[in-house]
Formats: sequence, C-alpha cells, structure tokens
Amino acid sequence: MRKAGRHFLQIPGPSPVPDRILRAIDMPVIDHRGPGFADLGNRVLTGMQGIFKTRQPVIIYPASGTGAWEAALVNALNHGDKVLMVETGHFAFLWQKLALKLGLKPEVLETDWRRGADPELIEKALRADKDHTVKALCVVHNETSTGSTSRIHAVRKAIDAANHPALLMVDTISGLASADFCFDDWGVDVAVSGSQKGLMLPPGLSFNAVSEKALKASAQSNLPKAYWNWAEMIEANERGYFPYTPSTNLLFGLAEAIDMLNEEGLDNVFARHMRHAAATRQAVEAWGLEVQCQVNTEFSPVLTAVRVPDGTDADELRSVILAQCDTSLGNGLSKVQGKVFRIGHLGDINDVTLLGTLSGIEVGLHLAGVPHQTGGAQAALDFLKSNRQQASKAA
Ligand SMILES: *Cc1c(COP(=O)(O)O)cnc(C)c1O
Repeated sequence: MRKAGRHFLQIPGPSPVPDRILRAIDMPVIDHRGPGFADLGNRVLTGMQGIFKTRQPVIIYPASGTGAWEAALVNALNHGDKVLMVETGHFAFLWQKLALKLGLKPEVLETDWRRGADPELIEKALRADKDHTVKALCVVHNETSTGSTSRIHAVRKAIDAANHPALLMVDTISGLASADFCFDDWGVDVAVSGSQKGLMLPPGLSFNAVSEKALKASAQSNLPKAYWNWAEMIEANERGYFPYTPSTNLLFGLAEAIDMLNEEGLDNVFARHMRHAAATRQAVEAWGLEVQCQVNTEFSPVLTAVRVPDGTDADELRSVILAQCDTSLGNGLSKVQGKVFRIGHLGDINDVTLLGTLSGIEVGLHLAGVPHQTGGAQAALDFLKSNRQQASKAA
C-alpha cells in the first residue's frame, strides 16, 4: 500500500541523501580516463583532505567501509603482527574479526560497550609492551552500535606518554563530517571512513587518510594486497585519476557533499549534531529510559542508543514505529540485540526532522506498551527552543 509523506530513515547510516546530492549524482557517466575527469578527481581528493583536516593523501575506494578497514590493515602491517584493538562495541568487534582473518594477532582491550576507549588503559597496555611487539592500535572514533565516542586526541597522547611506536588507526566511518575529526593535529596514522553516514551519500565509497609514518610502514608491509594497494592509488591520484574504474557518479555526489559541508561550515555541522544529540537525550530522560552510553564526555553526536526496560523488546518497538510512523530506527547489534534501539541524528537533519522522529518514537512506545512517561518529544522541543543554534560564519 502507498505510504504518504517521506519515509524517515533515522538509522545511524545510511543517512538520508539530500535532494541536492541525488541531483548531482543524476548525470551521464563520463570517461574516467578522459581529459575532463581529472577536474572531478582533483576536486574530491583535495576536498576530502579538508574534511579529514589533513595535508596527507586521502584514498577513495569504490567499496563500503569494510573495504577501507581491510585496506588500512593490509597496507601498513605484516603477517603475524600484533594489533591492540579496543572493543567499544560491535563495530570494533567486527574490525577485530577482520584482522584475525588477515593473519594478524589482535589483542583486545575489552569494555562494557557503554563508553569510549580509555586512554589510561591504552597507555598501561602499551607501557607493558616493552619490546614494542604491538604494531598498531585500532580505535573506533564513533561506535555506531552503542552511541559512544572515543577521545582520539587523548588516545594519541596516551601512545606518546607510553613512548610507543605503534601506528594509530582510527575507524571514523560514522564519525567523519558529523563529529570533529583532526587527522593531522591528533596524530592519526590511518583513518578509515565511508560515504553513507555523515557525508550524506549513498553507500559505496570508503576512504583511508594516510600519515607519512603509515606510508613508510606500507613500503615494508608483506600482507598481500592488490585492489587495496595505496601506492598504485596515490600514483594515479597525483594526476587526478584512479588505477581502476572509480564510482564516477558517487564522486559527483561526493563533490556536492563537500561543497554543502563547507557552505554550512564544518564547525556549524558539528554544533548542529551535538545540539540534536543533546535534545534527543532530553527526550530519553523524560521518557524515563536509559541511554546506552554512560560517560557524559563520550555521548555520541551521531546517534543515541536507548535501552528499553527489561521484559520489553526493542525490535518489537521498532517494528511498531516502522508500521505506524514509517520511521526506521537502528537495531541493537549482537550483545545488545532487542535491548536497545538506535536513533540516528546524523547527516542532513534539522530540528523538525528530529522532532518528527522523536514524536514517532513516543507514539511507538505507547502502542507497543513499553513502560515510559509521556513528554519526551516535548522535552526535546523545549530544549531546542531554549538552545537555538548559533551559526558562526562558514569558512
Ligand atoms: C557503518 C560502520 C561500519 C561498516 O561499514 P560498511 O560500510 O557497512 O562496510 C564500520 N564501522 C563503523 C563505526 C560504522 O559505523
């Protein structure tokens, strides 16, 4: 049956694609080896350096984020290398499984999935590694399964305090372009990202930003790599081209996304996300429900994972909200399946999108019989009224 009005895609990625980006993608395919292509290539390659806040090379793969995870590991590491990985949630766990399949030896710093990575524990673990057998530390910037962020700059300081040479690899697949990320200033060695979250694009592109130190490590790396090879990419990228067929039309969209982010101003984009996250937490509190992340300084600006009371099923709630309000919310993954639902407030979102989403959730809580107090949507509305977005001038 036809459903009137727009579907609310409020999962933490893919995020809704703005019409402006859809129109930019809706173009004839061009010759990726023709003389005109380099303009587009150069535009997105330098544009993405701005988004990562780096002067280092950014590599663009025609792949989902998982591909760029693999690329980070196979380019910079060697067979049997130890990697220290912080398990902040399901995505960190998946990266760890991928590392294992590639012949690496993950050492895991566990968490309770309710916080970001702990810089003190990282420092301790690296200090204990006196022979420097750990070759990389892998951290997820924004853990999309739990709604907690890790303080990457503090993690860098922890590595330096331990005087450890491990590469810092950061998954910012759902963080980039929603939460501040400073590749150069934070001393990240390899960053991994994807197109379908803060960048507001359809799925299908992913990224590595690569430090000088990571490039040096890649020259010695013996893990097999062909499709993911940084060196071949960087060589072709220097002329604005790619070694194999890029996703031409997604690159049109990427160029548009970069323009849109710069027009709004990255700082305004980040402030908007934080404000919407804070309004969402007001709603959750008013409902009498609990946010999955327990550390105030680590609340995600990208999404909020909400715990449902014992004896109720978050997936049942989500299906009621979908049927009744045509609104998709994220499910709880693995350990927290059925226990949490995730509200995406990332990408092309404004106050009314958020209020519509929260209202839909409140309808669903009622219809699904989840014990709660009414007034969550109102609490978010009150918060937004009294905390107006202060737009500073775009760059
Ligand atoms: C979405 C996401 C991934 C997975 O990316 P795919 O594009 O699905 O391969 C990995 N890590 C994080 C933190 C994510 O949010």
